[in-house]
Amino acid sequence: MHDFNYKHNNLYCESVSIEELARKYGTPLYVYSRNTLINHYRKIKEAFSLINPLICFSMKANSNLSICRTLVKEGAGLDIVSGGELYRALKTGVSSRKIVYAGVGKTEKEIEIAIRHQILFFNVESIPELRLINKVAGRLGIRQKVAVRINPDIKARTHKYITTGHGENKFGIDFETAKTIFLNSDKYEHLNISGIHVHIGSQIVDAEPFIKAIERIADFIKDLEQRGAGIRWLNIGGGLGIIYSNERPQTAREYAKAVIPVLKRAMTNVILEPGRFIIGNAGILVTRVNYLKETPGKNFAIVDAGMNDLIRPSLYGAHHEILPVRSQSYAGSKKIRTFDVVGPICESGDFLGKNRKFIDLKQGDLLSVMGAGAYGFSMSSNYNSRPRTAEVMVEGTKAKLIRRRETYEDLIKTEL
Ligand code: PLP
Repeated sequence: MHDFNYKHNNLYCESVSIEELARKYGTPLYVYSRNTLINHYRKIKEAFSLINPLICFSMKANSNLSICRTLVKEGAGLDIVSGGELYRALKTGVSSRKIVYAGVGKTEKEIEIAIRHQILFFNVESIPELRLINKVAGRLGIRQKVAVRINPDIKARTHKYITTGHGENKFGIDFETAKTIFLNSDKYEHLNISGIHVHIGSQIVDAEPFIKAIERIADFIKDLEQRGAGIRWLNIGGGLGIIYSNERPQTAREYAKAVIPVLKRAMTNVILEPGRFIIGNAGILVTRVNYLKETPGKNFAIVDAGMNDLIRPSLYGAHHEILPVRSQSYAGSKKIRTFDVVGPICESGDFLGKNRKFIDLKQGDLLSVMGAGAYGFSMSSNYNSRPRTAEVMVEGTKAKLIRRRETYEDLIKTEL
């Protein structure tokens, strides 16, 4: 599945030892495997080769320029949700005709810049937003393509904070309202309303909710066609789940096999917006044990990475495997003990893993938090005035620093 493996009891990323990277670049440290990144992109591309969709990597999962650029060179487009992500996207050299822009709160300024750059699609999340894009496009004299993001009111079995296609979520537009928009599209004279977008949530492990959502949309498209509205593009979002511990997510091939027949019914060009599937298992967070603390209630391994570096466990109760960088065998009289792996942040919610078993864990040992490539660094912060980590990308026997560690000066450089 990925390129993080033990060789002689030492964890490696491709052909580079994690211990060596920690020594050279310090900890906490995000390490990415370029090979895994590219392989996961290719897995989706190959699985969908029958319909040749535009695959727009979802930058919110990981917006590091080197990572996005690697995917753009492979032919990917980019899915963005802010002016900042547009700025980053353009720095990668991606064609603006491969950029799609979602998000419920786009500002007039963000809209104007995106129209000026002639992005492929705005995925529109409300009528007021549609009106604003129409107004700005009119002012600029540019006819802009938009897709209507549908909220198909489908419950996906995932954490409630990462479900987005249920009726009570803030995302998208209900079918009835969307129908009114399409049937009255000439009201929006500066827009070409020619696409439908749907994204029902993230870390979804079975194909069923995807199929349900796409089936509803395919029926909707057929109905609209009979009424004279032509839909040329269908963007089915991201959301593919990955293995964090013992999940059994559908593979890219299984997903494609399940959804392609439904997509064929819709007879449109197709866009995908995967994030986690591509980068999730291509990255780890390496951290060092600063202290072992035993209390009457618990053992704590206090490490140098905190919730500011990886917030998923604290925010979603997400599970990440935590492995020793130097593995120990169970043979002999080695001590197996259970620890909560916690960070240095002054919050009780600051943990990376609870009740984890380690053999002979010692102060100074290195641990690897697995599957940290998606929503890891991109959700990190400076909370507790902690400089953000460095990031390294490994390619074969070579490692490249793709983001330097922040300094204390970086922490205050925007303050006046
Ligand atoms: N597209 C949209 C609109 C999203 O909101 C998200 C994530 O929330 C994605 C794509 C990427 O999702 P994932 O990383 O689960 O593939």
